[in-house]
Amino acid sequence: MFTLKFIKKIRCFFDIFLKKIKPIIIRNSRVPNWFSNKDMEMYGITLFPFIFVINFDNRQNELIYKKCEILNHEKIHFQQMLETGIIGFYLIFLLEFMYKSIKYKNIVQGYLNISFEIESYKNMKNLQYLDYRKRYNWLKYIIN
Ligand SMILES: [Zn+2]
Repeated sequence: MFTLKFIKKIRCFFDIFLKKIKPIIIRNSRVPNWFSNKDMEMYGITLFPFIFVINFDNRQNELIYKKCEILNHEKIHFQQMLETGIIGFYLIFLLEFMYKSIKYKNIVQGYLNISFEIESYKNMKNLQYLDYRKRYNWLKYIIN
């Protein structure tokens, strides 16, 4: 019998298990620059199992976010990837990006309105967020 208590236990186990999987962080990387364009500068990017972040130190322009916030943003994506089976993340990301770019008639707005990005941008400044984050929390932004 699948009791509610049993399901809760499985969910808790799944949550703890996924939290134990850590990304490999590559600092001072040029990879985020390859994805940047004139409208948007990328500071970090998560390409499973890696998180690439730019060299924060020798830059001309000031950063909009703190280094720890940028890393937190990417770590939220890493958890979203784990819970969507990695491939699912990229598929949903791409579909939402296309759909919302058309909806907002603008690719930057399209990108910013992807459910994964809304969750990450909203919570990146809260460095404790991943400690208590609810699984699949990005789902509530999917109809944005
Ligand atoms: Zn992001």
